[in-house]
Amino acid sequence: MTVTTKTNPGAFQSFPKTTLRKILSKTYARLRQGDVPAVINGLVADSSNWLIQSQKKPRYYCNLCERQLPYFVHLSNRLRIKWHSVCPNCNSRPRHRGLKVLYQAVLQDLDKPEVIHFAPEPVFYPLFRHLEKSYQTTDYILEDVDFPKEDIQALSFATESFDMALCNHVIEHVPEDDKAIAEVARILKKQGLAIFTIPGNWRRNKTITFKDLSFNGHFRDYGMDVVNLLSRSFSSVEIKDLADYNHDYQFPLGILEKTNLAFICRK
Ligand SMILES: [Zn+2]
Repeated sequence: MTVTTKTNPGAFQSFPKTTLRKILSKTYARLRQGDVPAVINGLVADSSNWLIQSQKKPRYYCNLCERQLPYFVHLSNRLRIKWHSVCPNCNSRPRHRGLKVLYQAVLQDLDKPEVIHFAPEPVFYPLFRHLEKSYQTTDYILEDVDFPKEDIQALSFATESFDMALCNHVIEHVPEDDKAIAEVARILKKQGLAIFTIPGNWRRNKTITFKDLSFNGHFRDYGMDVVNLLSRSFSSVEIKDLADYNHDYQFPLGILEKTNLAFICRK
């Protein structure tokens, strides 16, 4: 099977509405796996989705598909519920809606930067279209990228090749995250910028490393100590809570405080 960016979150797919039948069959499947936390979180999130999806009055804004929406779809897994998460129209997550504003602000200060985007999300492509061949994509698994089969722990790119690296929800899937971060820093030019988003619990300091690879292919659930890890490879690490961008529009982007942080790292 070909794995493409179209299967990535944020790929302009619409998100189907839920039904009571779907809720029951998901609950049954989770029960059969004995996954009680996933059952509880799933029932709370999905029944809330079922209740809100008939609403019509606009309450949120998706700045990627530029629509006012009555709701974003809640997601859940065994670790947490992600409230107001997925745009039902374009499949963007809160981090994508926040990052659009951040990327635009950063791009304003750069003259024709060379950009490398790891595990690229198609919702961002319009932002970089003006850069033409200076914007390039790469991934280890996805095949429809400029540089496929690149292992972020040992990249084939020359040292000091890029001005900007974008890397969302990647390093939690990598066995040696310290190597990956060092590699991203290596391929950046002096003063180059890497912007990471990483899933974690930002009210907790310590990163939890799983004994076995988790259900969603994560090696860890990060805590704020990830800043120390980033600081080993970068001269400065600025933390931006993407929830701040909710206020840039008439309706909020559905980003809850301290759930989606961007780490802006300067080489
Ligand atoms: Zn959208």
